[in-house]
Amino acid sequence: MKIGIIGAGQLGQMLALSGLPYALQFRFLDSSAAAPGAQVAPIVVGAFDDIEALRRLARDVDLVTYEFENVPVAALHEMAATRPCFPPVDALRVSQDRILEKELFGRLGIPTPPYRAVDSLADLEAAVAALGLPCVLKTRRLGYDGRGQRVLRRRADVGPAWEALGSAPLILEGFVRFEREVSIVGARSTRGELRAYPIVTNTHRDGILRVTLAPTREARLQRAAEAHLRRVAEHFDYAGVLTIEFFVHEGRLVANEMAPRVHNSGHWTIEGAVTSQFENHLRAILGMPLGDTRPVGHAAMVNYIGTMPERDRILAVPGAHHHDYGKAPRAGRKLGHCTVVAPTAAGRDELLKRIVRLVPR
Ligand code: AMP
Repeated sequence: MKIGIIGAGQLGQMLALSGLPYALQFRFLDSSAAAPGAQVAPIVVGAFDDIEALRRLARDVDLVTYEFENVPVAALHEMAATRPCFPPVDALRVSQDRILEKELFGRLGIPTPPYRAVDSLADLEAAVAALGLPCVLKTRRLGYDGRGQRVLRRRADVGPAWEALGSAPLILEGFVRFEREVSIVGARSTRGELRAYPIVTNTHRDGILRVTLAPTREARLQRAAEAHLRRVAEHFDYAGVLTIEFFVHEGRLVANEMAPRVHNSGHWTIEGAVTSQFENHLRAILGMPLGDTRPVGHAAMVNYIGTMPERDRILAVPGAHHHDYGKAPRAGRKLGHCTVVAPTAAGRDELLKRIVRLVPR
């Protein structure tokens, strides 16, 4: 069985690595021959909307998946016409547009921040008047890791934010004064089996995930997050791993966004859960029984952003798992991560403190 993965970044690399024990073979499509996935499987080099490259990939594989959210939907339809393609293209289409995503959440009874579509400066003025300050202006499409967004705190921020982002369709969201951010990662298989991991607590800086703590043991939030995940997954007749990110506001979940793919906030599952999100994604799209999603202890995952820490100092921390994606350093770029797992939350927090001291900020 050969699987095509669109995108050969670290998510693709970790997906392919997790499939090797199943004797699965992989081919990637990526615009760079030197992307992290190259360490694990051959890359068909081409742009994500290069129909010829997509056809070359499709001819060579039995099934297609993707690790990258900004794959053009038309390109994926082209693939799906000749090879099974999971997660469903429609889930990708909705996740690419913050308005479609929030409309879907609304239809499924999943709370979101208040929002307005913004296509002109007049729209923006009206939306700011309706939602009040502070609020967050974001591009509807193609935003990630905090790119394409501005927090508006004062009236005077409106003009410059419009100048910076106004060339693309936008969304204005009410600013959520959240207590915490959490996410849920779960897998649904082609047979309809669904398993969710425990919710995790995420800390972001400059819109980029820095630290994930797992598990977050709050039965009420877990039940709510799982119910939301199930509703979205069933809506799409989903297969693969699905992630939903939430704000916790006044003790309740408010959905921020979904990702139809394995997710950075699920990296802890490699060493911290019985079955990793990557293995479960493959099991899900291949119709295998899903693996146990229970945690094996208390885990912390720390991202390496922009600069790598000294490997051997990280490895001197007992039980530290160091992941180097093999990417060239660049400000704001995810270069690797570290996971520690301990029998207790206090033990995990001790290890985390030591790791955080070693990771350049
Ligand atoms: P996003 O790209 O939508 O995931 O946003 C990146 C980060 O910006 C989130 O993880 C939050 O920390 C922050 N953020 C985004 N939207 C809002 C909002 N409506 N209210 C408060 N903080 C937000």
